[in-house]
Amino acid sequence: MTLPTVAVVGRPNVGKSTFVNRIVGRREAIVEEKPGVTRDRKVLEAEWNGREFILIDTGGWMPSDDRTLEGKVSKQSERAIKDADLVILITDVTTGVTEDDDRVASLLRRAKRPTLLVVNKVDSDKRELDAWEFSGLGVGDPWPVSSMHGRGTGDMLDELVRRLPPEPEVDPADLAPAVLDDADDVAESVAIVGRPNVGKSTLFNRLIGDD
Ligand code: GDP
Ligand code: MG
Repeated sequence: MTLPTVAVVGRPNVGKSTFVNRIVGRREAIVEEKPGVTRDRKVLEAEWNGREFILIDTGGWMPSDDRTLEGKVSKQSERAIKDADLVILITDVTTGVTEDDDRVASLLRRAKRPTLLVVNKVDSDKRELDAWEFSGLGVGDPWPVSSMHGRGTGDMLDELVRRLPPEPEVDPADLAPAVLDDADDVAESVAIVGRPNVGKSTLFNRLIGDD
């Protein structure tokens, strides 16, 4: 069964990698003290309340042309957005809404991907109210968290899991005989003919792997 994919996007230095490390419970993604560019996207498995998903830490999104490193990293973020079941837009309460936040948000609205808006670096109660400014981005209600201290991450993860595509009750691939898997793709019919008692039904059963 393939796991749902969650892409973590946002401009550099908002705390995407810190957020990803908090969720997977290990320091896997590289946290940078200075604003910078992580070239590779990092793909990690995560789990909350028994629900597993894939988290993608993107390098960050910056408006620029394709030839620069920033442009390549942005393209990579855009691909991650397109392939994701859910996109988490990370923003930073300490800077407030920036022009780049606006650009990423409008890209997400155009991409029509389900989006969860996270306002990071809400390290204390005092910061909580400042998070509401981000509802102006037009991608839903802001979820305040502190990825550094773990504040608010439990409630946010509950919401994240609620927004994943519904989990299939049973994986049909485990039940149906292989030959029925792609029933929609069946293009040809084959008839088994012959006089009685030569083994037509036995051959048929053998082919479909069932009685
Ligand atoms: P990225 O570029 O978006 O991946 O951001 P990083 O995860 O590399 O973090 C950038 C900086 O923000 C680092 O110095 C982090 O320690 C800091 N940071 C990340 N999350 C928080 C947080 O919740 N609170 C505070 N105060 N700082 C944070
Ligand atoms: Mg990073």
